[in-house]
Amino acid sequence: IIHLNKIEKQYFMGGQGIPVLKGISLDIFKNEYVALMGPSGSGKSTLMNILGCLDTPTGGTYILNGKDVSKMPDDDLADVRNVEIGFVFQQFNLLPRLTAAENVALPLIYAGVNKEERIERAIAALEKVGLGDRSHHKSNEMSGGQIQRVAIARAIINNPAILLADEPTGNLDSKTSVEVMEIFGQIQAAGNTVVLVTHEEDIAEYAKRVIRLRDGIIESDNINTAQKGSPILTH
Ligand code: ATP
Ligand code: MG
Repeated sequence: IIHLNKIEKQYFMGGQGIPVLKGISLDIFKNEYVALMGPSGSGKSTLMNILGCLDTPTGGTYILNGKDVSKMPDDDLADVRNVEIGFVFQQFNLLPRLTAAENVALPLIYAGVNKEERIERAIAALEKVGLGDRSHHKSNEMSGGQIQRVAIARAIINNPAILLADEPTGNLDSKTSVEVMEIFGQIQAAGNTVVLVTHEEDIAEYAKRVIRLRDGIIESDNINTAQKGSPILTH
């Protein structure tokens, strides 16, 4: 579902390009559960932003679900993002004055869905993350783990093919992190592709595949050879 070929990213500062991703080639298949690890500054968030169509690479090719998105104009990229991608951040990014259901329904406003259907779908998404009974609570009335589950519900409201999460448990204690990882596991089991960034080895263990970045290149990737060699899954 994700095909990266020699992806490069430079950030331009003061007229000078600083290479951050230095040739990332990678396939992620439908329904995989992938953890992305690596030291601070190795390029994880940069790669996630490219995967999530929030940014474009300065070199190489990115084919997402059969479409070349590497050089797409911003408007088209936004359309692809809205259809294919759900994104969860380390900072929860909820609007504190809205209820859980209203926060979850936000992407549907932009999609032009009517109010009745918005609330119905928001409550269904909240039920998927175990918060059906919290739909009318505001975020200051919820725990960090609950808030992050609301953010996950919002990310899956459009039923995106791919759920991306950049350090989703970075602000959570270990018990709450486990709850959140279990939710990601359920989403993956339901047929989605999940890619998340974490610094913690025990969190990464929830994923079936671990990719390690170092200095903008892939240092290791434990994709199992059976999967790699499968005729159904190869391009
Ligand atoms: P962390 O674990 O700390 O989140 P990371 O692996 O996510 O690190 P990135 O955020 O991808 O790392 O950053 C990689 C490098 O690119 C860093 O040196 C960073 O300073 C630089 N960088 C990131 N974003 C920008 C930007 N918008 N402009 C210029 N440089 C940037
Ligand atoms: Mg980062």
